[in-house]
Amino acid sequence: MNPLTEQEIRTAFVNCTKGEAKRLFVPHDLAERPWEDLDFLGWRDPQNPHRAYLATWLDGRQVALVLRSPGAAAWQTRRSMCSLCLTTHTGGVSLMVAAKAGRAGQQGNSVGAYICSDLACPLYVRGRKDAGIGARLPESLSTEEKIQRTLANLARFIAKITT
Ligand SMILES: [Zn+2]
Repeated sequence: MNPLTEQEIRTAFVNCTKGEAKRLFVPHDLAERPWEDLDFLGWRDPQNPHRAYLATWLDGRQVALVLRSPGAAAWQTRRSMCSLCLTTHTGGVSLMVAAKAGRAGQQGNSVGAYICSDLACPLYVRGRKDAGIGARLPESLSTEEKIQRTLANLARFIAKITT
């Protein structure tokens, strides 16, 4: 995907206040990220293990999300599958909860999805990162088709948050 700058990311958040978007943690090494291998950039907050963020392009516009990832629970030790990239990890998938955008979010509505805890889905899909034996089901899809499927899953997740 096209690289994103810190300023673009901060202005792209759809489900937090402008003040929060200004203050939240954005990685300092954006210039060194492997953008050509990313369908979205996901990162965790080093100050707060329960916070994660995701930034991407959707229909030519930048979109960024604030995600809450509740603490470790029984399900984290089981094998579970990421709903975006369909990689299965033992203990490496987290429930990520996003407040909905706008008024619905202010009223406490949110959307949850199981997502790779390290938010490295694009790298798992491309085989650039290994999640261990049996992590990916044998499939006849090409890498490009898997990328398209991951993007479609992400677009559906974002649509649930913004509509
Ligand atoms: Zn994933």
